[in-house]
Amino acid sequence: MTEAAEASHSHPHPSEHDHKKCVSEALGTAEQLCVVRGVQLTPIRHQVLELIWDSHKAVKAYELLDRIKPLQNAAKPATIYRALDFLIEQGLIHRVESLNAFVGCSCSGHQHEQLLLICNNCQEVEERSAPEVMQALSLEIKQADFIVHSKAIEIHGICVKCAQTMSSEQS
Ligand SMILES: [Zn+2]
Ligand SMILES: [Zn+2]
Ligand SMILES: [Zn+2]
Repeated sequence: MTEAAEASHSHPHPSEHDHKKCVSEALGTAEQLCVVRGVQLTPIRHQVLELIWDSHKAVKAYELLDRIKPLQNAAKPATIYRALDFLIEQGLIHRVESLNAFVGCSCSGHQHEQLLLICNNCQEVEERSAPEVMQALSLEIKQADFIVHSKAIEIHGICVKCAQTMSSEQS
């Protein structure tokens, strides 16, 4: 577990990295976790997860449906939604509420609190565990006697890659 946590910290920025490695790691972790938990990573669930991991961009359900159609012509929206529910339940993907879209979890699939940095230009989502922020938030919530069901902070802006492209275009 400690190793996994460290690996997520050293996860390079989405702009400069070997994405094939991200995909194979994510799928490998998902397969392992499902075996350990005794749940089925059915072919359709696996395929949806793989399609979400196509990039670090947030993907909408209809985009997934478009992508899956050529692979599985019989795939129905309800099937995709059920697969997405399963993947969220297992902590393998995150719902980006503000975009109504989904992104692969880069933190080894455990259920956790997240800070999502969402680029408005390229739709890439960077996930950060931000433990200090979350701790402060927990304290605040506790003081309000509020029962939390989910806790995610979504921040919109411009990622470093897009910011660099923009500044080089301006000069
Ligand atoms: Zn990647
Ligand atoms: Zn995550
Ligand atoms: Zn960007």
